[in-house]
Amino acid sequence: MSKFLGIDIGGTNVSYAIVDENGEFANENSIMTSTIGSVEELADTIYEAIKSDLKGLEGIGIGAPSVNIQTQQIEYAPNLNWGDVIPIKDIFQSRFDLPVVVINDANAAAYGEKFFGGAVDMDHFAVITLGTGIGLGMFINGEIVNGSNGLAGEIGHSIVQLDGRECNCGKFGCLETYIAKDGIIQTAKELLEFSSGGSLLQKISPSDITPLEIFKAARKEDPVSLEVVDAVTKYLALGVSNLINILDIEHVFLSGGIAKSGNILKRKTDKYLKTFVLPNLRDKFDLRISEINDKNGAILGSAALAKQKFEAVH
Ligand SMILES: [Zn+2]
Repeated sequence: MSKFLGIDIGGTNVSYAIVDENGEFANENSIMTSTIGSVEELADTIYEAIKSDLKGLEGIGIGAPSVNIQTQQIEYAPNLNWGDVIPIKDIFQSRFDLPVVVINDANAAAYGEKFFGGAVDMDHFAVITLGTGIGLGMFINGEIVNGSNGLAGEIGHSIVQLDGRECNCGKFGCLETYIAKDGIIQTAKELLEFSSGGSLLQKISPSDITPLEIFKAARKEDPVSLEVVDAVTKYLALGVSNLINILDIEHVFLSGGIAKSGNILKRKTDKYLKTFVLPNLRDKFDLRISEINDKNGAILGSAALAKQKFEAVH
């Protein structure tokens, strides 16, 4: 059975696993990104951790932010402190002596959905990852969409509010500032300031408020949390409806940590989509929570891409 190493590099964690052809994980592990000083150190750490299982490994797929797919380097990633331009493919290739492919993390999640998730039979679909940031990977006509510079899919930086919140990218009113982790928490804190008290969220210390706690409280009909969820799903539906209206994408998968809040997120986003999507597309879109969400779609997808590129004929 062929096996490939999939690595998901994020601003908070680096996660990896050896993935077999059924999508099963072995040697799964996660390291805090801030504890790693350089990509050389990362390659050494992963190599040491899995070296007893290297036999039979045929290649490596890496999903990372700010990847230039032409040069296979990470370039100016705002959330990584490993230097401006990182030749990550070369570093892993020389450490492991195996072929390596590097892709953008959001595209890795889309490959995961295409090879192992709900999109196996789909030619047009999008995967939106909701977490510390907002990612988007798309397949159109059966092909991944990269754009002219390999940067397609920055839906998190589409502006949904004129003169809105300041974003890390330097602009104002980006979708990310309302529906990524920090944006959701900010909305909750703003609403709590004006609430008359009695919110379940006031029983949590402010530093422990997370999107999942907010969604949990909303399921218990906590008024402030319901208001937060309403705002989040309205902005999310704005982003998704633009995607549907522009590209006529039928299937949109939600993935990532915040998507774990599941049904309430889908239900309320669907409600707003019914108003934001064009009438003739309104009955045709299909929003769903990714079924591979518990597994890490980016690990699956980068390993699957490596398999597609490097698998030896057995
Ligand atoms: Zn932005």
